[in-house]
Amino acid sequence: MKIAIVGTGYVGLVTAAVFAKLGHRVSAVDIDEKKIKALKANKIPFFEPGLKAIVSEGVKKSYLKFTTSYKEALGGAQAVFICVGTPSKANGGYDLSFVFSAAKEIAKALKSYSVIVIKSTVPPGTTAQIREIIQNNTHISFDLASCPEFLREGSAVEDSFHPARIVIGTESEKAKSLLLKIHQAIEAPRVICDIKSAQLIKYAANAFLATKISFINAIAILCDKIGADILKVEEGLGLDPRIGKSFLQAGLGYGGSCFPKDIQALIVFAKRQGYDFDFLKQVELINKHQIDYLISKLRKVFGGELKGRRLTILGLSFKPQTDDLRESRAILLIKELKKERVKIKAHDPVAVPQIKKLAKVLNIKCYKNVYESIKNSDVLILVTEWPIYRKLDFVKVKKLMRQPILIDGRNFLEKEKLKKIGFIYEGIGSR
Ligand code: NAD
Repeated sequence: MKIAIVGTGYVGLVTAAVFAKLGHRVSAVDIDEKKIKALKANKIPFFEPGLKAIVSEGVKKSYLKFTTSYKEALGGAQAVFICVGTPSKANGGYDLSFVFSAAKEIAKALKSYSVIVIKSTVPPGTTAQIREIIQNNTHISFDLASCPEFLREGSAVEDSFHPARIVIGTESEKAKSLLLKIHQAIEAPRVICDIKSAQLIKYAANAFLATKISFINAIAILCDKIGADILKVEEGLGLDPRIGKSFLQAGLGYGGSCFPKDIQALIVFAKRQGYDFDFLKQVELINKHQIDYLISKLRKVFGGELKGRRLTILGLSFKPQTDDLRESRAILLIKELKKERVKIKAHDPVAVPQIKKLAKVLNIKCYKNVYESIKNSDVLILVTEWPIYRKLDFVKVKKLMRQPILIDGRNFLEKEKLKKIGFIYEGIGSR
């Protein structure tokens, strides 16, 4: 089948490459000329395991093409997937301008009937505006559908080949059968519904996962207060099949390009519908508080004063296996810590090039060599649970540091082993 993908970011590029691998003819369009130039030269603009191989294969077989021309991308496409960004507005609302402008360009380039599929995360009801924009810019017939994306950065390729479900929202039988055909080779339960329900599934999924994270973080604070161990509490909770263990790991809270903005968007969207989603506001508040909570732990360790302390941050990306820094907890933490006039060095296995510009603004030093970043530090703060941090030579680490203090913002390290080596260890709800 011939498919056009609009937007070659994390979602668009992965979707394009996966569809090409499944045997579709895919043409991906982006307004970012630099990105398209890089993709044409077989350079992947971000780090995502397994992506380069399937992009290269798709291009080599001529199943996957990149362009900045909508006309070229849409020529003969039976389906067009909108995968552009839907960032937060400064005031917390949602910015749909990229989606609307993509819709207009698609309409202008349409030559024959096509199903226009919204993969970007948009609030329920946005479709009416998209329909109007398209109708105002073309006489060609089309149908609309929503296929929200659930991939996780860091395992996006694997998630796309083996999703937990495929949600197809549409009011058109023609669009439904076409989308079922496009996804035929992927084994996963199908949820077929109306467009609004499909869009709400996406927001509800992210809101629920964020809720789990904030819930366990609140329980972790209680653990700290009474001297209980959150790791044991998590184990005891997770073994209950009604609860499950995923997303129940206490830590510094959620970040990334999706959860923070989608939770905010759902709160704003609910308010516009006349419903005050107070519950989600608490989820957000608990998440925000985790940064202050870690800083309060640091203060306790240093007897109140942080000024002049030398800190090393381990992990900058918002989660492991990605170089995405959007809403990274590390960046937020660094910004808060800088107010305390501390000295900060940082390490990340892949995100160091991305942070170079930001490092100047933040006035921090970033290192490619983890041991260099640790030298002469008063405290190590683990923010992102990259596997390499568990495998560090901690005897060497202790020797390199001015004081052997470790704050584990993800409860990720082997605390008993570290305490034996002589570290002062503090986790979140676990010591
Ligand atoms: P991104 O910022 O990585 O990529 C968006 C791309 O769209 C950019 O390359 C940009 O240049 C391009 N673009 C913007 N306007 C355009 C236009 N008019 N025409 C063509 N291209 C245009 O975004 P992303 O992380 O891939 O997210 C895309 C959508 O998918 C968002 O709504 C997001 O919430 C949702 N989503 C993201 C993830 C994720 O993990 N990143 C997961 C699920 C859903």
